[in-house]
Amino acid sequence: ETPRVYGYINDICVIGHGSIGKGTLPLIKRHFKFDKITIIDPHPVELPEVSETVEFIQVGLTRDNFKEILDGIFVGKVGFCVNLSVGTSSSEIMQYCQAKGVFYIDTVKEEWEGYYSNEDVELWKRSNYGLREALLRDVRKHNRKTTAISCCGANPGMVSWFVKQALINLAKDIGFPLPEEPKTRNEWGKLMKDLGVKGIHIAERDTQRSNEIRDPKEFWNTWSVDGFISEGYYQPSELGWGTHEKWVPKEAVFHREGCQAAIYMTKPGMNVTVKTWCPTYGPQMGFLVTHDEAISISDYFTVKENDEVVYRPTCHYAYHPCAEAVASALEAIGSGEVPGEEKWKILEKEVVSGMDELGVLLFGHAKNAYWYGSQLDIKSTRERAPNQNATALQVTSAIIAGMTWALENP
Ligand code: NAD
Repeated sequence: ETPRVYGYINDICVIGHGSIGKGTLPLIKRHFKFDKITIIDPHPVELPEVSETVEFIQVGLTRDNFKEILDGIFVGKVGFCVNLSVGTSSSEIMQYCQAKGVFYIDTVKEEWEGYYSNEDVELWKRSNYGLREALLRDVRKHNRKTTAISCCGANPGMVSWFVKQALINLAKDIGFPLPEEPKTRNEWGKLMKDLGVKGIHIAERDTQRSNEIRDPKEFWNTWSVDGFISEGYYQPSELGWGTHEKWVPKEAVFHREGCQAAIYMTKPGMNVTVKTWCPTYGPQMGFLVTHDEAISISDYFTVKENDEVVYRPTCHYAYHPCAEAVASALEAIGSGEVPGEEKWKILEKEVVSGMDELGVLLFGHAKNAYWYGSQLDIKSTRERAPNQNATALQVTSAIIAGMTWALENP
């Protein structure tokens, strides 16, 4: 089948050539026409694609150098900055792109290196709620010249689209009259409220495994170890806090500023377990790791009347990472020692079996609970993208969708 081409871009800059960057590159090449792709990463990378139209610059972006480096890249009429790195400020790069008229996308809000582990930065400022409020405030100061998409991977990202489809399916299942799909944010919020949904788990079970044996001092995962340590260990556990909740967890802290859609807890997400459900193994424990979608979904589906919040769903991640990542995280939390970069491993080619099962579990309605999502196993992944694992392909395909949407909605 001839791959579909979704648009023409003069200059594409992909910041970060880790597991997601590597997976996204062939999809960008397959689905967009372009003059040049420039890849930036501080580490040397294997890049068979380097050619006249694909360039690699070995450098780490910093607050001091990023504008000069990006100025040298975005020289044509249409530019797209695809930020798939860790340790770079999403907000500052997005603001630069706004000023320059360049499209922007990332899969998570990142900060400059060392931010999450800096204990001098107050916990709420390291929370995803604090970072989201700051980003929205900073970016809205600008003229909003060109479309910028924040947090568009699998989760955060694709799962927000799943919530909308799940609501449509649920309406049908319970016989709720829905002559047409909601169009506005308020209509979506009202639909969720009227269907009686109280909350949503972003319920994910990753069963991918390799035949290798991990040393207890190593940290393995199926995506960024760096990113997982930041969100599971250094950032506080966070969740969107619904209007039906009648109790408050002991360690909960409410925010004083902003949309008030979420609370955080004074402990890391890999130290907070929740009972959840995914189709293959049914009831299970998940970790309440902070994720942007927990906050944005709760905020998006909030219903207000005369400026008063009358409805808001609870929403949180309920993540069962792959077995080796669970063991690695518990090891780090137990010992208080986070292994250094030389002990990290992302399981890619090593994966021999398993699946990434990622969905949204809507609960509280007349049918009790409904899981809607994607079950992508390693075999089907490799048929589509030979060098990726299932976790990565759920993310990289959503990046292509986001880039396409940006070009169609400039
Ligand atoms: P990774 O750790 O494999 O790769 C990150 C890359 O960024 C590395 O190659 C690293 O060298 C590079 N990098 C580090 N500092 C840099 C700097 N200053 N300038 C430029 N590059 C720098 O991570 P990954 O698995 O590829 O994930 C990339 C990003 O995507 C992370 O932020 C991660 O949290 C996010 N992510 C989002 C989702 C989602 O569903 N939304 C899923 C997986 C990963």
